[in-house]
Amino acid sequence: MKLSNLDERIHVMDAGANVWNIIKDIAESGVQEEAFYVCDIGDIMKKHKEWKLKMPRVQPYYAVKCNDSLTILEVLAALGTSFDCASKAEINKVLSIGVDPSRIIFANPAKPASHIRHAAAVGVDLMTFDNECELHKIKSLFPTAKLVIRIRCDATVAQCQLGMKFGCDPEADAPRLMQIAHLLGLEIVGVSFHVGSGCQDPPVFRRAIAAARNLFELGATLGFSMNLLDLGGGYPGIKGSYIDKIAEVINNALEEFFPDPEVHIIAEPGRYYVASAYTLATNVHSKRELINHEDGSITSVMYYVNDGVYGSFNCLLYDHMEVTPIPLNAAGRKIRQCSVWGPTCDGLDQIVERTLLPELEVGDWIVFENMGAYTLPVASPFNGFPVPKVHTVIDDHNWLLLKDLHPMTEEHFVIGSTPANLHLGLDIDGRGNIDEWEEVA
Ligand code: PLP
Repeated sequence: MKLSNLDERIHVMDAGANVWNIIKDIAESGVQEEAFYVCDIGDIMKKHKEWKLKMPRVQPYYAVKCNDSLTILEVLAALGTSFDCASKAEINKVLSIGVDPSRIIFANPAKPASHIRHAAAVGVDLMTFDNECELHKIKSLFPTAKLVIRIRCDATVAQCQLGMKFGCDPEADAPRLMQIAHLLGLEIVGVSFHVGSGCQDPPVFRRAIAAARNLFELGATLGFSMNLLDLGGGYPGIKGSYIDKIAEVINNALEEFFPDPEVHIIAEPGRYYVASAYTLATNVHSKRELINHEDGSITSVMYYVNDGVYGSFNCLLYDHMEVTPIPLNAAGRKIRQCSVWGPTCDGLDQIVERTLLPELEVGDWIVFENMGAYTLPVASPFNGFPVPKVHTVIDDHNWLLLKDLHPMTEEHFVIGSTPANLHLGLDIDGRGNIDEWEEVA
């Protein structure tokens, strides 16, 4: 087992318990003040099952950058995914849990030389490129690498566009780069693209797959035996989002352009696997009422919680994420206009600019769902506010499915104890009365 400390173990929940029970138990334990996460491994397992069902031909290579928790990597390795790594450190992390180098793609088209050397040394030979300079670097540092040319094909709407940084033009640039690779004696085995993270334009996958087909034809004329198509990332991951439409477009396009089952189809999903698995609970440590000086009424309330944009909510800045605050226990209270702020002294540290919430008191908790993607790997303890700790849980059914799959071992799990070493109260009613206050608002 690679878990570096006991806190990272996965707690097997009592029958009938759920993430909201756990959050309530920890928040109301009387000893909890710091913000904390609860991560539900069952949610990740559900996603994996859905992926296999909806896109059986596409092997997922989980994008480690999205959330590099060792526990998550181990769970995904046990489920059978492969991995997309962006750097030497990510490669090492994945290898450290016993994953074979053949299950890794080094999917960064612009790699520092030392990282290419390292990939060669540890046997990670599959890697992307999108420019001539990279080809020369690879020629001198790792000439036997298996290359995947990354082309640009942007979604019309995406949470984070990537095309302005990576991906060569499939018509204007790719043929020239493939010629150069050929002249250098390098081996191109496939084509990759990333349509943009949080893609809201499913048909873009058909356009990209069609463009890849043309390059397979060109590759054949140059003598490359190309057998890998990498569909990149972009799949949604928050609660209530589905991959059905994207899966339909992809499956149809694969049938049309890549009917040959010998072509290995892979993808690099990141947020799809982890976004909804993580729920964050923050504590209201201060509040400030803004007063109408004419009549003395409260116009708005500012709530300060103990995680902000320098911590988990960096996703508001870097990942263009929108978050919804859910008070843990506030049914029946007066609804007020308010804003929610992080704990640091920076004015930028605002989580929600304007919303309606039941009136909260110092010590109350505000919960945020869908916080598993592009949050923790970027978070810092700026101003001395710690990055929230993660309590990882699994229900007993999923535990039975997972517990014997390598690299999971008995030591990964704690049975009969809650994350905070509390007794799990099963009489707590899920999310509380959220519907009630939403109606009032
Ligand atoms: N692959 C590459 C090369 C990426 O840069 C990213 C994200 O930036 C991903 C995969 C994961 O994308 P997503 O989280 O949208 O699935």
